[in-house]
Amino acid sequence: MTIGQLHPCIGEVLLTREVLQERVSEVGREIAADYADKQPLVIGTLKGAVVFMSDLVRAMEPTPAGLELDFVRASSYGAGTVSSGKVALTMVGGTDVKGRHVLLVEDIVDSGRTAAALLEHFSAEGAASVKLVSLLSKPSRRAVQCEPDYQCFEIEDKFVVGVGLDYREEYRSLPYIGVLKPECYES
Ligand code: 5GP
Ligand code: MG
Ligand code: MG
Repeated sequence: MTIGQLHPCIGEVLLTREVLQERVSEVGREIAADYADKQPLVIGTLKGAVVFMSDLVRAMEPTPAGLELDFVRASSYGAGTVSSGKVALTMVGGTDVKGRHVLLVEDIVDSGRTAAALLEHFSAEGAASVKLVSLLSKPSRRAVQCEPDYQCFEIEDKFVVGVGLDYREEYRSLPYIGVLKPECYES
């Protein structure tokens, strides 16, 4: 990627489109093998995980029979960059998770609160199994015990955008993971 194609607010690219694509393909194939006989219910968190989920499910080759998709809205952040610690959940498509092998798709596991709350919710609803796949993980920020079963990349403690991740609803469509320039944060 040339510097000229970069969004003007991106100061540093942590993960290029090519690097992302290769790793997501690898993890997709691993998940496909693990879920070949499980008719997985793949549940993505809105809105952040949508872009990753779209790449991931198409990388699940061979496609597990009976794979279904749904989405859950999980809000813990509000408009800023610091977690409020509270997580509100809404299932979007209304799929019953009872007896299903649920694979929760997250954009990033930061404090771990969002993913931990969702995993616990699906278990309590009677899922046959519940696992977590995350595009990114910031292990140094963990506040609760929550490790992805599958993860594409570990990153250091920087606020990143792109591939579904936003800052005040912007930058979700960027095809790479980048760090904003300080002048692009509103104070
Ligand atoms: P957690 O509950 O693990 O603290 O946070 C999960 C959510 O916080 C993510 O799904 C995401 O919406 C937001 N988040 C955490 N770290 C980042 C980051 O570096 N960049 C962006 N854009 N969002 C983040
Ligand atoms: Mg998320
Ligand atoms: Mg956000």
